[in-house]
Amino acid sequence: MDFSKLKMGTASVWAGETERSYQGATTTPIVNSVTYAYDDLDEWYDVAAGKSKGYIYSRNTNPTVAVLEEKICVLEGAEATTAFATGMAAISNTLFALLSPGKRVVSINDTYGGTSKLFLEFLPEFKIEVSLCNTTDFEMLEKEIAKGCDVLYLETPTNPTLKVVDIKRLAAAAKKVGAVVVVDNTFATPINQNPLQLGADLVIHSATKFLCGHSDAMGGILCGKKELIEKVFRFREINGASIHPEAAYMILRGMKTLELRVERQNASALKIAKYLLNHDQVTDVFYPGLTTHPGHEIAKTQMSGFGGVLSFTIKGGYDQVKQFLPKLKLVHLAASLGSVSTLAGPPRTTSHVELNDEQRKQLGIPESLIRYSVGIENVEDLIADLDTALTAIKIDNTGNVAEKLS
Ligand SMILES: *Cc1c(COP(=O)(O)O)cnc(C)c1O
Repeated sequence: MDFSKLKMGTASVWAGETERSYQGATTTPIVNSVTYAYDDLDEWYDVAAGKSKGYIYSRNTNPTVAVLEEKICVLEGAEATTAFATGMAAISNTLFALLSPGKRVVSINDTYGGTSKLFLEFLPEFKIEVSLCNTTDFEMLEKEIAKGCDVLYLETPTNPTLKVVDIKRLAAAAKKVGAVVVVDNTFATPINQNPLQLGADLVIHSATKFLCGHSDAMGGILCGKKELIEKVFRFREINGASIHPEAAYMILRGMKTLELRVERQNASALKIAKYLLNHDQVTDVFYPGLTTHPGHEIAKTQMSGFGGVLSFTIKGGYDQVKQFLPKLKLVHLAASLGSVSTLAGPPRTTSHVELNDEQRKQLGIPESLIRYSVGIENVEDLIADLDTALTAIKIDNTGNVAEKLS
């Protein structure tokens, strides 16, 4: 089927699953088999040597995982894909496969906490030079790229302050020095943003988040240029960070409703962001869909929707956050994002748990910041829930009003 003529919502359902499978099954079977048998040794050899298609051993390739890979390939408009056990496996395998001692990577300060840890701790141990720049200082980034680099690693919108990075502009700078451009597209999803069309060579997803969408399976995806994917795949096969077929199936199943969920989450997040912006207990709202957001103009050019995650600060510090969050009833106070249920938490326990207070401060992550990942609940209920909790802390903080009401 030629998916290039079809819309995202159609591809989410059908891509990778147009052929009828075992016994006419209309959903993808979960192939738990570790190994694949052959009667003909020549045929077996040809598959093992990569001369013909087939399966040998599930650490390398697996039929259920292959369907997941095909689906994301279509959604991102990529030449090739490979799946991993987690998002961090995708990120670390990609960086370690593309970099080696003496090579240089340029990136931004605001990458996901785990990625940040790779840049600050692990890559330097292998004598890889890491240059981290102010996330929205594109001139500085261009200067650092122009000095020469092997990989430009970006993430946008960022976690947890939702900064927007100009992919097209920086990819163009990277092309001039022959660097591979990698973009973590987890927050946007392929529904809202397609970095390959903006000049990226590789796109990464933590499939644990929006792609799966139900917080019940973990996975990672790398897709993009075929020769680069093959290089990382060779490392992944040996490194062993393969996704389990059961997890691949869960993600595949979740992805069928990806467009439905993301469209709803985009719309709800914008409504909630606007509501919070006008609340007197809220000091700042970070959401790229707001016209007041410094990255809004760039977001408009590279995104078709602004995503389901926002963050905000409330009056007071971390003590107020501790009062406020447990008053919310329609959220799980939990790590992760992109689920059907709303999730909220402060960065020190979620995205940036790997970093210490000082490192978070350096990144400009305020102590009263709350990350709020909007689920698919009815937005009016979510706003009412926020309103009740914000009113309650306001009353708590002006003690005598609390007396009167109780
Ligand atoms: C969660 C996340 C990751 C890591 O993914 P895991 O599946 O938890 O390993 C990477 N990047 C971003 C932006 C994330 O939100």
